[in-house]
Amino acid sequence: MKKRLALVGAHPDDCDILGSGLAMKYRELDWAVLFVSMANGDAGHHEMSRPALAARRKRETEAVAARLGIEYVVMPTSDCEVVPSLEQRWALLRLLRRFAPDLVITHHAADYHPDHRYTSQLVGDVSYLLKVPHCCPDVPALRKDTMHAFFHAWRDTVRPDAFCVALDIDALWSRKLQVLAQHESQFFEWLPWVGGGDMSSVPPAADTKARVDFLDAQRSPAFVRTADLYRDRLCELYGPERGCRVGKAEAFVSAPFPTSLSDGNWRDLFPFLTGADA
Ligand SMILES: [Zn+2]
Repeated sequence: MKKRLALVGAHPDDCDILGSGLAMKYRELDWAVLFVSMANGDAGHHEMSRPALAARRKRETEAVAARLGIEYVVMPTSDCEVVPSLEQRWALLRLLRRFAPDLVITHHAADYHPDHRYTSQLVGDVSYLLKVPHCCPDVPALRKDTMHAFFHAWRDTVRPDAFCVALDIDALWSRKLQVLAQHESQFFEWLPWVGGGDMSSVPPAADTKARVDFLDAQRSPAFVRTADLYRDRLCELYGPERGCRVGKAEAFVSAPFPTSLSDGNWRDLFPFLTGADA
């Protein structure tokens, strides 16, 4: 049966960074994918005004949506103002009910950024309410279980006992770089600047190949690290021969919500990991 995947990030590039490989696997099966950004991204720049930046980042998400064949929703909340308010809770509840996901993945509850942490909390807050008809009765409550997971965040958040799934993204990497390259305001302007890097090392917009190479150098180490951290799991899922050869991976960890990704339900949600052609 077809499944529906919702990735809920705080900013208009988080889902792309942490889960666009998984989104591509879902789309290969013609399964529906929704990316949500709980904030509009309007603080992620050192030069642009907030309204102009929010509009530009919306256009960047539209380019990603077209490239991946997904729906991308950006909430109107300003950056650094994602909080577990009732207003934001009900907006997310309504959005997720309308999409009716089978799997929701969000930031780890112990993430570094307050917008990420509160996004995680909001997802947890609505996880049970998806099925409670008296909350937001204007949108019908779901009559199915939705499983929940966290994006892998960093080494300290890896719980050895937590159920996890790791995805080989080596064959998807060049497409993933093309997806990330749509966020020009971030990867070629804001993130190099806020990271204190030498801005003259960022290739000019006209040199698209150099820009992708620049992104590759910036972004691949995190996914190489993820593959190394989840090496045992990759070997279980893909077999020892392929598992130990995986160079880059995305990883998803069971979230402590009422209905969580687990050993009992993951196979239907990740069928590309259970066959020989994974
Ligand atoms: Zn973010």
